[in-house]
Amino acid sequence: MLFEMSEEKNVSLYLVPTPIGNLKDITLRAIETLKSVDVILAEDTRTSGMLLKHLEINKPLQSYHIFNEHKTVEKLVDRMKKGEVIALVSDAGTPGISDPGFLLVRAAKEAGLEVNCLPGPTAFVPALVNSGLPNDRFTFEGFLPHKKGRKTRLEELSTESRTMVFYESPHRLMKTLEQFAEVFGPSRMASVSRELSKMFEENVRGTLDELVEYYQHHPIKGEIVLVVEGRGKTGRSREEED
Ligand code: SAM
Repeated sequence: MLFEMSEEKNVSLYLVPTPIGNLKDITLRAIETLKSVDVILAEDTRTSGMLLKHLEINKPLQSYHIFNEHKTVEKLVDRMKKGEVIALVSDAGTPGISDPGFLLVRAAKEAGLEVNCLPGPTAFVPALVNSGLPNDRFTFEGFLPHKKGRKTRLEELSTESRTMVFYESPHRLMKTLEQFAEVFGPSRMASVSRELSKMFEENVRGTLDELVEYYQHHPIKGEIVLVVEGRGKTGRSREEED
């Protein structure tokens, strides 16, 4: 069958987004769901344990992360087939978005089980919308490869006309901005969002060479999303063409 219906009562696996900073961003439905399931799979049981304590939710927690997901997926699917209802959370944001989740969702669906991903916090949406760069079409790139495959990926993206969204760590930001200026050209517009929804949230927008210059003098800390304008038809930035 190609179409899917989300009859809540038959759901076996819930993907539950959790705050990316501000605890008030948890949804009412996320709380309700976490309270209703049999077990919560967490990327880091200590991190999620603290959130659940804050929400006064007392449920069994089981560890589920990139190092054990391959070998646990089959057993988890068996348990769901027997009637267990599971929620998956990651350390922050939406599970499956640059976080474990995909393998379990695919296996559950292949086994004919009902999966439901709740809408909720994720870092790339506010960064993209806040960037002021075109968001009618965009590509989510997540983390770039650190070494092997990085050059090829960047070359592939050099002709990308949609706005591009990247996750990046603070200690790699300078290197990435410099490489972007080289590959995309120094006048390409971009935006750096850090610590979204937190006390020190900051969104800085400018050309790639302006951002390189800015971050040379303003070392950055915290979590980062980098948004880069796509290539225009003439090879210039889309903004220059408008
Ligand atoms: N699942 C998460 C989501 O839905 O966005 C992403 C998890 S990924 C392992 C972590 C990365 O997300 C960070 O390195 C950063 O690039 C981005 N991120 C998460 N929280 C953020 C925040 N509050 N501000 C800016 N970027 C954030």
